[in-house]
Amino acid sequence: MEEKAKEILDKEKIESVAAVEQAVDAVVEPVAPVDAVKEEIVPEDVKNLHPSLDKWKPKTKLGKEVMEGKWDIRTVLQNGIKIKEFQIVDKLLPELGHEIIYIGGSPGKGGGSQRTITKKTARMHKSGRRFRISSLVVVGTGDGIIGVGQGTGKEHRNAIEKAVEHAKLNLMLIKRGCGSWQCSCGQPHSLPLRGFGRAGSVTVELKPAPRGTGLAMSDDLKKIMKAAGVKDAWSRTSGNTSARTNLIKAGFNALKSMNNMKQPFLEKKVEQKRE
Ligand SMILES: [Zn+2]
Repeated sequence: MEEKAKEILDKEKIESVAAVEQAVDAVVEPVAPVDAVKEEIVPEDVKNLHPSLDKWKPKTKLGKEVMEGKWDIRTVLQNGIKIKEFQIVDKLLPELGHEIIYIGGSPGKGGGSQRTITKKTARMHKSGRRFRISSLVVVGTGDGIIGVGQGTGKEHRNAIEKAVEHAKLNLMLIKRGCGSWQCSCGQPHSLPLRGFGRAGSVTVELKPAPRGTGLAMSDDLKKIMKAAGVKDAWSRTSGNTSARTNLIKAGFNALKSMNNMKQPFLEKKVEQKRE
């Protein structure tokens, strides 16, 4: 009973505080909260990048066969066939989502920097500065297929479109599993084993975690894992992780490293014991 009373008291307190805040807001001009300033805002024009399959005339053998409906994406990737036309992916995975990594930053009000979807770099020209806009994009199906791509252009939309196309050509199958010894559910909610990846100074280590752990990592790495469909994992990073391009590439490489590894030796030991 006491607990209930406490709960009610707490609720009333919160309500009264909210009421006070409302009253204050009515008098004082509202100031945008810090969180709202830092929030990542996706401009409308980059939300929908529609693939234009109508105009596509396949040039490669794979492209022509995909057009005839002969392939599915997993077979292509499992056989290690290089995809040279991004429309192949549009055809095979019409609902492939993309996630923009906010690699840019501009100094914001009140310290800190506001992150932007693209990075603007300048080079000097005799008539002034010439700008170049670059972007980084992660694409994924949410069930074990991801790609990372980079693109540059003169405009945001241009750079992002190129990055998405590049990511589609970089698709990779990743292994999911339940490699945590604390969990043996056998569902592909996590990773099968530990993986290491490196890019520039950044190293990323990804480890399987038991069900319900969630993704213990930075928001940028979460974007890759979500694209891949990994729900529970632990991570450890080192190096200059604020270099987000390298962080993402290192994370991608860590997932890739799991494909090259043989089955964990622990499994072999268990089998030997059984014999
Ligand atoms: Zn599990």
